[in-house]
Amino acid sequence: MKKSMLKILVTATAVCTALSCTVLKAEEAKQTLFKNVNVFNGTENKLYDNLNVLVEGGLIKTISADMPDTTGATVIEGNGKTLMPGLIDGHVHLMINNNYSDILPNEDPYDLGIRSVLAVEHFLMDGFTSVRDMGGPAFALARQIKKGVIVGPRIYPSGAFVSQTSGHGDFRDRFDMGWSPRAGSDIGNWEKLGFGAVADGVPEVLKAVRINLRHGATQIKIMAGGGGSSKYDPIDTTQYSEEETCAAVEAAADWGTYVGAHIFTDRAINRGLKCGVKTFEHAFFATEETYAKIGKAGGYVLPQMWGLSPGLLENPNMPKDKLPLVKMLLEKYKDVGRTMLDAGVKVSFTSDWVGTLEDAHKARRFEIYWRTQMFGGGKNNYDGNFEVLKQLTSIAGEMLAMSGPRNPAPGKLGVVEVGATADLILVDGNPLENIGVLNNNATVWYGQPDPHKTPIKTIQIVMKEGVIYKNTL
Ligand SMILES: [Zn+2]
Repeated sequence: MKKSMLKILVTATAVCTALSCTVLKAEEAKQTLFKNVNVFNGTENKLYDNLNVLVEGGLIKTISADMPDTTGATVIEGNGKTLMPGLIDGHVHLMINNNYSDILPNEDPYDLGIRSVLAVEHFLMDGFTSVRDMGGPAFALARQIKKGVIVGPRIYPSGAFVSQTSGHGDFRDRFDMGWSPRAGSDIGNWEKLGFGAVADGVPEVLKAVRINLRHGATQIKIMAGGGGSSKYDPIDTTQYSEEETCAAVEAAADWGTYVGAHIFTDRAINRGLKCGVKTFEHAFFATEETYAKIGKAGGYVLPQMWGLSPGLLENPNMPKDKLPLVKMLLEKYKDVGRTMLDAGVKVSFTSDWVGTLEDAHKARRFEIYWRTQMFGGGKNNYDGNFEVLKQLTSIAGEMLAMSGPRNPAPGKLGVVEVGATADLILVDGNPLENIGVLNNNATVWYGQPDPHKTPIKTIQIVMKEGVIYKNTL
């Protein structure tokens, strides 16, 4: 073992639980020098060669061609490998970590909590240093990671997603509510577990939002349209009235933060824009004009592109009767990624991580590759690798900063620049040329021999806020 590593290990307070990795947890503000690295800064389509990047505490202190004075610093010999920002997943559900059909009748919060510990470790070892959790009780997970009790990315939790009756977050059984408004006061397991909160009318919406803020939500998630996985709401529906939507936005703004909405259609998106919703989750079925409006309003779109992949037809969880519809949608919306870029709207990476660990990790790994196909080419000849790298880093980092005073990061995220948060990964290869180095070259979603547990060997160092959690150099 190198001497410098030993020094950090002495202060180790965390251990790896599931993966064979090297976890190092430094307690004090130490210096780490990445020597002779090529830098992808998160914003430009180029590498800056042969630089030395000095990290002090949780921040990047200097970036220079000269060798800084670093007596006592831990030195990482970069040998021309690529140093880039830690990856960011803009939309995950860390606590919804099994199939609904198992969770709802058979599990309690501890089942979810145990699996979530394994899930977050995988995220970090795969290079993800921040994730935005868009529904589910991820508060404890965020706290314990922050304390160093367990190992995972920095989490931006939303808490229970706020949904109207018969909305995308209403998972009660058909007759739980009876037929009269006065009959229905019961809540289903879905709400007991903290996945969703059904709230109707301005007072209930305000209360549901404020409960999430009370738990420490860094942003709020509402259900503003129908979906595929829910029970009573066809995908074309618009959910929450203007008054209810605006109430949620106002309550979030009072806490200095914003609302993200599960949404698909022009009608719903335009209502959200009117109220000041900032992030539009999924949002596949909008026109270029509507995407441009989101861009103009400073908003973001977060489409999980595996939802428009032929791999969806291979997914064993996909109901057979939905296959014709899926096929039609894949064809109709095959250019939607490029349409979003044409419209000038900012797109963040999202895996919409949900379900069993194996399925969810596979989908996330595949998503990186698949986005290069959906966001590359077209009439403007987009560079798919660069677009996706920005979505994984600087654009997602900008979006996370909208949490304002609730933002847990000490500096900018998703960039390599002086003063930014020292969330960094060292990659063996140039991801601008070969995105596969972030991804074990996974180009197939289902049917690939690569199980989710295979370490990504080309990501050799993962640092979060100045602390190295993975080092396979
Ligand atoms: Zn989601």
